[in-house]
Amino acid sequence: MQVSIEARQQAQALLDFIDHSPSPWHAVDTVANQLKAHGFTPLHESESWQFQASGKYFVIRDGGSIIAFTLGQQAIADSGFRIVGAHTDSPGLRLKPQAAYSTEGAAQLGVEVYGGPILATFTDRDLSLAGRVVIRTAEGLDTRLVRLDQPLARLPNLAIHMNREVNEKGLALNKQTGLPLIFGHAANTAAAKQLLTETLAGKLAIPAEAIAGWDLALYDTQRGSFWGIDQEFIANSQLDNLASCHAALEALISNETPQSTTICALFDHEEVGSESATGAGGSFLLDVINRICLCSGLTQEDQLRSFANSFFISADMAHAFHPNHAGSYEPCHHVHINQGPVIKTNANQRYSTNAVTAARFIQLCEQAQVPHQQYAHRTDLGCGSTIGPIMAAQLGIATVDVGNPMWAMHSIRESAGVLDHRYMIATLQQHYAS
Ligand code: ZN
Repeated sequence: MQVSIEARQQAQALLDFIDHSPSPWHAVDTVANQLKAHGFTPLHESESWQFQASGKYFVIRDGGSIIAFTLGQQAIADSGFRIVGAHTDSPGLRLKPQAAYSTEGAAQLGVEVYGGPILATFTDRDLSLAGRVVIRTAEGLDTRLVRLDQPLARLPNLAIHMNREVNEKGLALNKQTGLPLIFGHAANTAAAKQLLTETLAGKLAIPAEAIAGWDLALYDTQRGSFWGIDQEFIANSQLDNLASCHAALEALISNETPQSTTICALFDHEEVGSESATGAGGSFLLDVINRICLCSGLTQEDQLRSFANSFFISADMAHAFHPNHAGSYEPCHHVHINQGPVIKTNANQRYSTNAVTAARFIQLCEQAQVPHQQYAHRTDLGCGSTIGPIMAAQLGIATVDVGNPMWAMHSIRESAGVLDHRYMIATLQQHYAS
């Protein structure tokens, strides 16, 4: 398979993006840094906003969600918004508030399951911790990102000699008793807590007493890689859905003077249902759109007209056909890696796509000279969902659910295609240019 230099570079940029983003808060920070490097101005929700013509801005809510936009050349009421939405979070393991304890001299970390990870894939990996720590300062509370780079914690498998049926029955891990990780030696729980706190404090170069709290996730320290005979596949953690975040960001940045006002909205908490202040079920995007309209002098009718003239692409990943499990897929809806973006349809509105929005997305693919594929889930299997139906319901904007094909969704090491990333960027560029 031929992989162009451009596609290779874009896939490498994605792998680097993910390696810089071991938690949703890091992902937002990575996005913000790229936006700043491309001339986007940060706005704060607590301050008054003023725009310049053709201005480029971004706003962050509570560290985990970010919305960036470029004001269009045309009146918003007439052209509407061109929006891409994706999510910054990935399923995995999160530390409990009083996580560290000792079991017969082993220092352990109590964890909670965040979303729906394939738990077995978290065993025997070089895991570490990343997230944010709240610290006390002379000026009040402050929040700092933290990432412990070295492999720090591990979930060793039980030897096959004590788990004889593991290959026949699969690895079953009790969420309470099977998941606590090992991170060192500690004579007792107080010593284990001290080990963890001092490690975090040392990394942040602050006294241990200054730590007031944290949101910490386990992440895989293995970097992203290319694989396959022609290096046509990529593997990394969090491809769902940082691959879509990266594609949306690249497309937004590449269009400095769009005709329509363009928005890239990246939300936390999709993997746990989106119902939060920062999630897609919250008010963040509507609040930002309301303020864009207010600051641009639109009347309420103008704003409602703008919604009717808008188009929302919900970009999340799709299930590529797995040759060893052909029976798990709906006939005529097999989607393949490196064969283009996937339009996802579900009559029960687990996906927001309908015939009209699907056709509109197909047109964008055609304009970008990109192939496309169509996916529907097996009828007797529960279909996942996305932020698409939530946003469609909240905004009343025409919406389509799309995404790139991938293997092993919700594994700690997912796989996708090099070409597909370029295809998705090119298609989203068409959307932002429309
Ligand atoms: Zn997803």
